[in-house]
Amino acid sequence: MEISPDEVKYSRVLFKISGEALMGLQPFGHDMEVISRLCKDIADIHKLGVQVCIVVGGGNIFRGSSASLNGCERASSDYIGMLATIINALILQNFLEENSVDSRVMSAIPMAAICEPYIRRKAIRNLEKGRIVIFAAGTGNPFFTTDTAAALRAVEMNCDVILKGTQVNGVYSSDPKKNEDAVMYDKLSYTDLLARDLKVMDASAVSLARENLIPIVVFSLKEEKIVNIIKGRGIYTIVSNSR
Ligand code: UDP
Repeated sequence: MEISPDEVKYSRVLFKISGEALMGLQPFGHDMEVISRLCKDIADIHKLGVQVCIVVGGGNIFRGSSASLNGCERASSDYIGMLATIINALILQNFLEENSVDSRVMSAIPMAAICEPYIRRKAIRNLEKGRIVIFAAGTGNPFFTTDTAAALRAVEMNCDVILKGTQVNGVYSSDPKKNEDAVMYDKLSYTDLLARDLKVMDASAVSLARENLIPIVVFSLKEEKIVNIIKGRGIYTIVSNSR
């Protein structure tokens, strides 16, 4: 199906991809077919002229909170978790290149031999030059998550929206996998999301988006094409200031 650039709702987006989204049905690691499909979808929106930022998680490799429960010091575990996000960022970059998309990995923890350090103005320049920017190593600080990094980079990059691809097709009143009466919301305010403690993104990420009025669109990576989401079509929940 041909998509006209006129239909596109956003000009600069931040796409938050969790580590889990990269592992397909496997218990951990990477499902290269899933990653290849995902990067093709991302390349499709980029080819429409949308500037794309990506923040990738690391939960498919290492999660600081779980390791600290098993005896590691929390801050050290978190640094290992941030290294995991760099691995994922480099994998995404390779698959984006397969689709002839130019990209840069910019890491909050400098790693000069393999990627650029995160410098805000350089990141904006990369976007303006038509490169996808993949932000790695989260915020660069332990005790944070890549959700918060996503909100932070979205604010810094002046993104129009945060696209949060998940395993379910929106925000539900309770876990739809456990409760068949769970109701999905089309729209939700930031305040309602926080007050009802709906587990979509951490509270710090939602607060940052609220303060800076950046809407969060929650959708299923499995069931929805990203290109539909950026046209405002398909099934999703939009979290914004209006209910
Ligand atoms: N992390 C961190 N600071 C950050 C972002 C991430 O310490 O700013 C660590 C933390 O240990 C986390 C891990 O990196 O568990 C992987 O990130 P996250 O859990 O957010 O990944 P996702 O759930 O999106 O796969």
